[in-house]
Amino acid sequence: MRAAARRAGRDAEGLVLVAVSKSASAERILQAVAAGVNDFGENYLQEAEPKIAAVAAAGARPNWHFIGHVQRNKARGVAVGFDCVQSIDSPEIAAKLAARSAAAGKALPVLLQVRLDPDPAKHGVPVEDVEAAVRQVRALDGVRLHGMMAIPQASERPEDAREAYRTLFEVWKRIAWREPAALSMGMSSDYEIAIEEGATHIRVGTAIFGARDATVAERAG
Ligand SMILES: *Cc1c(COP(=O)(O)O)cnc(C)c1O
Repeated sequence: MRAAARRAGRDAEGLVLVAVSKSASAERILQAVAAGVNDFGENYLQEAEPKIAAVAAAGARPNWHFIGHVQRNKARGVAVGFDCVQSIDSPEIAAKLAARSAAAGKALPVLLQVRLDPDPAKHGVPVEDVEAAVRQVRALDGVRLHGMMAIPQASERPEDAREAYRTLFEVWKRIAWREPAALSMGMSSDYEIAIEEGATHIRVGTAIFGARDATVAERAG
């Protein structure tokens, strides 16, 4: 992370490493906490809830980021159990979360998920709709919008993401975000490129915890 920041003439100090712990046990998460990681990302509420409880019972209180698609019937659990939701992929789901969060007396930090993948079946707001979605989400009580998150189109070559990350950075820069402004992009294969292109948060799973057992994710999802 430091090397990538240096290449881009950026200060590595403000960069946030979100360790994506889907399919990693609470024990492994506690090892990462002991190694200095303070932010974790989870995709599935049912998988995350017992792990969050186990980590808390062990005396650790890291920040929990929800990074998966929020299903309507899971909005309450996500709003109550997480410190941040990075995956707001529609104003409608933001409204659901906002209602649940406000009822719990919270102002939940959220990021708008932007769809960089041309496939419309993928989650996220298309780039051309970002400004309208930002206005809608900002009008809600119960959530505090302070940035964007994106997943690039899958590719064998990490370099392929650079163009999309550059576009996203330009869109992000045009919007006056609440501080601390966040731009979450970059995963195990391309986090260095994402940092070079302006990411404030990277989401790294396999490079930290090792390859995931696909069946675990499928079962949880
Ligand atoms: C799983 C996941 C990651 C981490 O991917 P790796 O390639 O394992 O680093 C990052 N972001 C999201 C949204 C994910 O679902």
